[in-house]
Amino acid sequence: MRNKKIAIIGAGIVGASVAFHLSQHGIDVSVFDKNQPGTGASGHSFAWINAFSKQPRHYYDLNYRSMDRWPRFSENLGEDIGLRWGGNVTYCSDPDEGRRLASECERLNSWGYSARLISMEELSRFEPNLKIGQFHTGIYTPDEGHVLPVKVAEACLHKIQKAGGKIYLDTPVDSITQSADKVFLRLDEQEMEFDQVVIAAGIDSTKLAKTAGINLPQRRSPGVVVKTKPLPSFIHSLATIYLPRISKEEKEIHIRQDIDGAVMIGAGDQESETEDDSQEYANKLIQRAARYFDQLSGVEAIRVPVGLRPMPEDDLPVIGFSPGHNNIYLTLMHSGVTLAPLVGALAALEMVTGIPNGDLDPYRPDRFASKN
Ligand SMILES: Cc1cc2nc3c(=O)[nH]c(=O)nc-3n(C[C@H](O)[C@H](O)[C@H](O)COP(=O)(O)OP(=O)(O)OC[C@H]3O[C@@H](n4cnc5c(N)ncnc54)[C@H](O)[C@@H]3O)c2cc1C
Repeated sequence: MRNKKIAIIGAGIVGASVAFHLSQHGIDVSVFDKNQPGTGASGHSFAWINAFSKQPRHYYDLNYRSMDRWPRFSENLGEDIGLRWGGNVTYCSDPDEGRRLASECERLNSWGYSARLISMEELSRFEPNLKIGQFHTGIYTPDEGHVLPVKVAEACLHKIQKAGGKIYLDTPVDSITQSADKVFLRLDEQEMEFDQVVIAAGIDSTKLAKTAGINLPQRRSPGVVVKTKPLPSFIHSLATIYLPRISKEEKEIHIRQDIDGAVMIGAGDQESETEDDSQEYANKLIQRAARYFDQLSGVEAIRVPVGLRPMPEDDLPVIGFSPGHNNIYLTLMHSGVTLAPLVGALAALEMVTGIPNGDLDPYRPDRFASKN
């Protein structure tokens, strides 16, 4: 079993984690990416590690379990991957929204999630630089954090290389075919043979899966997170903050400060869509955030091109062997930053042992098979 040769297509945070865990089992892994690690969704992510609004219950559980895995995963990678805990505060000025947040807090508590309402004074003690403005209700979820996904992917690749695995960057895989017990990757002019392959190619997974006759439907989900150059630390305690909207026309914004001081800002919630990656939009987001933090006044926004979330058609992850293709394993998901440690570990274990894990049943690719 351990002499298996497995190819992983995609060196984003999910593919890199699957490959890392496989290599920890002694598998001979080869990782392919058409670009550099993290140039897909992983390089565009807000990278908030959380299970805050994840539903239904089984999907919440998956995210929650993965949050717990992050410290061990980070330790095993043995590099600085920008992991920072401190929790999140979401607060609002609108009474209706306040009631919704309070009931969300109760639901989270009933699911075993650490969450509590927070006063304006406490928020001010957490973040003295925050100009809170109108405050109705705030919810504090202390176990959440953020990370730098590109550093995670790179750290996985370093470990894989140390374990003897092969990394092929700037190497697009054009198509996949299979025989009874082998899979063949077509790359430019050559063909390479493996025992199994993992398709972890983010938004390109659909196209790649189709070359092997697999139906993997996705919907388009564009998002933009703008950045600043490293700034002196001014967000001291919280990993992330969801700030209230200032007017009805504007969405709320979320903000984090990385360990190197760079600030990331996005608008709306975790799934909010925008195609606008203009410098003007980036400047506007910084200006809006500057109403909450003086430290952002006059700071230039770094324009970040639109990012596309890997988004299965029904929004739930796709994890597992493709029906009728028992040597092609699929990993496609939003919230892949939160999920990378657990999904990497469980996917690797399934491939190594051949034993299906019932916890992954809701995410099996066969739910799309009848639409082939
Ligand atoms: C704006 C935005 C905000 C987000 N915020 C969060 C958040 O706060 N929390 C969270 O948990 N998640 C968040 N996500 C989602 C998360 O970033 C993704 O789920 C995760 O990055 C997916 O990782 P991946 O490895 O599956 O895909 P990707 O990072 O897209 O990696 C796929 C890789 O496959 C490669 N590839 C594609 N085709 C081929 C081919 N034919 N041959 C070889 N290589 C190929 C690509 O070059 C790419 O590097 C966000 C995403 C976006 C876009």
